[in-house]
Formats: sequence, structure tokens, C-alpha cells
Amino acid sequence: MEYQALGNTGLKLSKLSYGASPLGSVFRNISEAEGIRTVHTALDLGINHIDVSPYYGATVAETVLGKALKGVSRDKYILSTKAGRYGADFADFDFSEKRIRQSLDESLNRLGVDAVDILYLHDIEFGDFNQIFNESLPCLAALKSEGKIEHIGVTGYPVKVFSETIKQFDIDCILTYCRYALHDTGLSAVIPDLDTKGVGIINASPTAMGILTQRGAADWHPASAELQAAGKKAIALCNERGVDITEVALQYAIDHPSIVSTLVGTANPLNIEKNVRWAESKPDKELVAALLDIFAGVDNTWASGHKAN
Ligand code: NAD
Repeated sequence: MEYQALGNTGLKLSKLSYGASPLGSVFRNISEAEGIRTVHTALDLGINHIDVSPYYGATVAETVLGKALKGVSRDKYILSTKAGRYGADFADFDFSEKRIRQSLDESLNRLGVDAVDILYLHDIEFGDFNQIFNESLPCLAALKSEGKIEHIGVTGYPVKVFSETIKQFDIDCILTYCRYALHDTGLSAVIPDLDTKGVGIINASPTAMGILTQRGAADWHPASAELQAAGKKAIALCNERGVDITEVALQYAIDHPSIVSTLVGTANPLNIEKNVRWAESKPDKELVAALLDIFAGVDNTWASGHKAN
């Protein structure tokens, strides 16, 4: 496993990271024991960064992850969680200082740790930016001085939220999802600004939350019918070539030099083994070109929150 520096944080993250949202049964109902085995497999194979949120499975993912991390030495993993987005309800957001502080305490308790390495505001495009810049991010900065978190960041779908945030506030890193993968490379527009400011980039969802997997997207997936159809075409092309679509999708996303780490979610230890193996090789250039061609001109983004993509 390769490790890379995350901006100016001093952290060195494995190129492949573990996304714990599946531990909250967001893609399918999972077995807790298998979920816990998946976390241990990830750590055993050199993955040192795990991301979670109280939102995933309405706190279930954090609870299961806490069980998995019990007894694991704290220096074996870099842990991030989030605040601001909650519950099973799609619209449950609260970016107030009071809720962020309470949320962090609850997360630390579920995870069984004294501090997290990174705390993000979760999906800020759903928040009021006056509050985000004048209350929520100052609250994260205060928590950092108090020692409950080491580094701060924001997550979101529209890439413009990242350029806007770094103009207004000093953050350590961002977590982007579904914006640098075979179906969409919209993140490229903001990478130079993030690099210039030394803000570490963590990229999630190289399979576009399941579109670039044999199982395909779950029924809640926000992608257009056109994008889902293009995903099926891409899968068919890979099947014809005898290649697993997820292998190419993962290798393509990981290959960007500015992306420090790529988060993949799964609750299946065998998937972790495959992903770690796949992450060691480069993708086939000719196949990548053919796949990018399938997604060219397709309606490949979706609306998220109050901000333009
Ligand atoms: P993903 O692209 O990692 O896709 C997950 C899906 O891919 C699951 O269905 C999983 O079973 C499947 N998969 C994984 N490895 C596979 C393999 N080898 N073969 C076949 N299928 C495989 O999307 P994700 O889980 O949404 O993103 C990863 C993580 O990133 C999340 O768990 C979360 O921690 C983070 N994330 C954060 C945000 C945010 O902060 N707003 C948004 C999305 C994701």
C-alpha cells in the first residue's frame, strides 16, 4: 500500500481508504459480524484511514465501526467523522454550534475514541453559508484548539462549495464524492485552487455510489436515467473484455496525482481484498478511453442542496 501526505496536516493516508457507510446498511442489509471483519481486513491490508458519519444508517455505521475498532491500537488508524447531517430523513441538517458540539460528543462515544483526526461539516451545500462561515467552521476551529479533533474540513457534492469555502476560511482538507470517477471529472475545475492552498483532497465513491459495479445503483440513487443507462453500457463493455468494471473505476480514480486518498465503501472482506489488489495497478488506457467515451455528453450530475454544481 502506498501512503501520501494529506495537505499540510502531517497525516499520511493510504492511497485506498475505507468508507464505513455500508456498515449502516445503506446499500443492502449487512451482517454486523461481516462488517466488523471487513474493517479488520482493511486494517490488516494496510488501509489506515476510515471515514464515517452519524448520518450513515442514522448512527448505525458509527456504532458498528466503534465495535470493530474496540481493542485496535489508536495509532493504527486515522479516523474521520462528520457533523451537520443526520437521521434517516434526507433533509435533517443542523449546522449550529450547539448541535455540532453535541454531535461530536455522541460520535466519540459511539466510536469509542477520545478524538477524531478529521471532523467535516457534512454536505454544506444544504446549509446557509452565512452560518457555515460565521458559526459552523469557527466552531470546528475551536474544537481543534480544544483537542477534540485534529483537523477540519467540509464535504459536499457541488465542487464550487470547495472553492467558495477556501476563499473564506482555512480548512485542512475536503472530502468530495462522485465528482472524480469514470462518469464525471467535474472536480478537475477546483483541484488547482485546492492544491495552491495546500488543502488535502480525499475523493470518495469511485464507483459513483454503485453505478460502476455489477450490482448497479440502489433505488435511492439520484443519478439520471441516462447516466444509469450509460453505467449499464459501461458494465457491458467491461464484461465483453472480461474485466470487472469496479477494477477500472477504482484504478482510474486513484490515478489522479492530486487525490491523496480514495474512499471505497463495502461491507464484504473479499471486496476489500480485491480493491487493495486492484489499487496496485494502473488501468488499461484504451479501455479507460472507451469508457470515458460512453459517458461523454451524458447528463452526468444531479442537483444537491442550494448550490450549483
Ligand atoms: P463507492 O463508490 O465506494 O461504492 C460503494 C459500492 O461499491 C457498494 O455497493 C459496495 O458494495 C461496492 N463495492 C465496493 N468494492 C467493490 C468490489 N470490489 N466489487 C464490487 N462492488 C464493490 O461509494 P460510497 O460507499 O458511497 O463511498 C465511499 C465512502 O466515501 C462512503 O462509505 C463514505 O465514507 C464516503 N462518502 C462521503 C460522502 C459525503 O461526505 N458527502 C458522500 C459519499 C461517500
